[in-house]
Amino acid sequence: MTAANRADNPISLVTNGNADSQTPFSTATIMMVDDEPTTIEILEMFLRSEGYERFVHTSDPTEAIGLARNARPDVLLLDVMMPEVSGLELLQTIRNDEDLQYLPVIILTSATEPETKLQALELGATDLLAKPVDPSELSLRLRNTLAAKTYQDRLAYYDRLTGLPNRRLFTDRLERTLQRARSREIDCALLHLNLDRFKKVNDALGHHVGDALLQAVAARIEQSIRPGDFVGVPELPEIHDPLSRVGGDEFSVLLPGAGSVEGASRAAARLLESLADPFQVEEHELFVNASVGIALFPTDGEDITTLMANADTAMSHAKKRGRNCFQFYEASQNSESAKRLNLESQLHRAIDRKELVLHYQPKADVATDRITGVEALMRWDHPELGLVGPDQFIPIAEETGLITALGEWALRTACEQNRAWQEAGLEPISIAVNVSAKQFENEAFVDVIQRALQQSGMDPRHLILELTESVIMANPTQTATMLDAIKAMGARTSVDDFGTGYSSLSSLSRFPIDELKIDQSFVSNLPGDENDAAIANAIVLMGHSLGLTVVAEGVETVEQLAFLAGRACDTYQGYLRCKPIPPEALEKLLQTEAAKTRR
Ligand code: C2E
Ligand code: MG
Ligand code: MG
Repeated sequence: MTAANRADNPISLVTNGNADSQTPFSTATIMMVDDEPTTIEILEMFLRSEGYERFVHTSDPTEAIGLARNARPDVLLLDVMMPEVSGLELLQTIRNDEDLQYLPVIILTSATEPETKLQALELGATDLLAKPVDPSELSLRLRNTLAAKTYQDRLAYYDRLTGLPNRRLFTDRLERTLQRARSREIDCALLHLNLDRFKKVNDALGHHVGDALLQAVAARIEQSIRPGDFVGVPELPEIHDPLSRVGGDEFSVLLPGAGSVEGASRAAARLLESLADPFQVEEHELFVNASVGIALFPTDGEDITTLMANADTAMSHAKKRGRNCFQFYEASQNSESAKRLNLESQLHRAIDRKELVLHYQPKADVATDRITGVEALMRWDHPELGLVGPDQFIPIAEETGLITALGEWALRTACEQNRAWQEAGLEPISIAVNVSAKQFENEAFVDVIQRALQQSGMDPRHLILELTESVIMANPTQTATMLDAIKAMGARTSVDDFGTGYSSLSSLSRFPIDELKIDQSFVSNLPGDENDAAIANAIVLMGHSLGLTVVAEGVETVEQLAFLAGRACDTYQGYLRCKPIPPEALEKLLQTEAAKTRR
């Protein structure tokens, strides 16, 4: 069945029957409850002659609810006059039942009980049928009731755009499939697919293009999971339409029998492959990537809620891994994302609660070993976790946009600290502050620097802003404007982690930069590693030829320092000299050093 004609025939989907029979609703499941087995027999015989094929029934009204829950009928024919539990009582129970409340119920009443009719309608009966039942009336009432249900199902269970089952139908079906899979020991794979950067298409080309693209994507995905390949195991014949649009640009696929890592990998790879060729929407040629998360049943979850959540977590990981790939769920992802979520929510309040602190790491002159400046490095003094390093929270801050506030705080605090040290009588030293991409791409950042300088009263010459290559090269025009403005203020700029990006020194040379920091990855293998030695040597030479101060980061050994001294590197920073330390400790260190030089 294709997505297009599926929505026209929801009943056959809900019941998964044969859509080609003569009666339009022949695949509907009809449930009958009557204490007279003969009545049931006669009705069933008649309805079979009309083309209906699926029946469930009981003459014991106490069994009715359980049976309905299991069989999920499309309509219930319910007798009123029964011993033990009356039909009206059953009707009431059904209308109060979360799973069954919308089940169409046709009440069978005899002419001797006229007041029951009103009561039945009052309780939510869909229709009434007089006993003894007139076959042609039954046939018409049944057809009309099923037609109304089809329409409602279409609205309630199908996505209008793609004609695919929506999340509601999907989870409902998934639950039943899992029940059956469990009892038959069949493993399954749940694939959760999210289009990468779909929002961009919508934003740039409009919703009508986005909608058309989604339809085309749905059709391709559907093609890629054709029955017979890995979909559909003989033991679970009811699943032959395993795809759902569960959200805006999200699709889920349930594959019974594909619960092995190999099977699920193959399915996911096929899914991604099916999207590889560009899509033609109007005059646009669009390339679509997707990230797929996979959760396996029963390993990764025994119920739908867990399984769906875990496939979703895995999908987020696939996105983080670089998109257009698939990723299996691993238990650790869960705790990782939980941990992250926790940190994220607490980070919002960290500034207000004064939990952020700056530690300072000295930068010393290679030739004289005198401390010429410090780098401010942020830490989060978390009430439970203790001191949390920037690697743990800066990425979160960058993703959530909190980095702007955090960075502004760091800049202000560092400037005030610098001024305070000088007021305490210490020799003026430079202070370096790390700047993240988000801050730098915002023109208002110039005002932020200006304000920090003014409010602290610090001499701008002592301020160094550290930017990574990628930040500098992201938008050269904007960079030039920003760097000119910073220079005009009298502050300096430094290229952090130099050598890890892909920019050449010559491409950086057109910007007004003052300092270059050789990334610690080149320093750590000095002097033994010939390659790194050659690179470090070249950076110092080229940096000097451009009039830049060259700083080596992460210097840990005297051998490294000796190598750098031999190459006339200007400044070094690293554990060899001093780790990043709290401001009070740094102040003491500066005092001790000053006393030493005076002696
Ligand atoms: P970075 O700017 O390259 O800072 C240098 C990092 O190297 C610091 O790590 C420092 O503690 C570490 N380090 C210094 N000497 C040595 C050494 O001898 N050996 C080794 N193994 N490591 C050394 P930290 O403090 O964990 O900071 C990591 C990164 O977090 C920084 O790298 C910077 O990119 C970022 N960061 C820190 N504070 C801020 C901030 O206020 N704003 C922004 N945007 N980023 C920050
Ligand atoms: Mg830095
Ligand atoms: Mg660095």
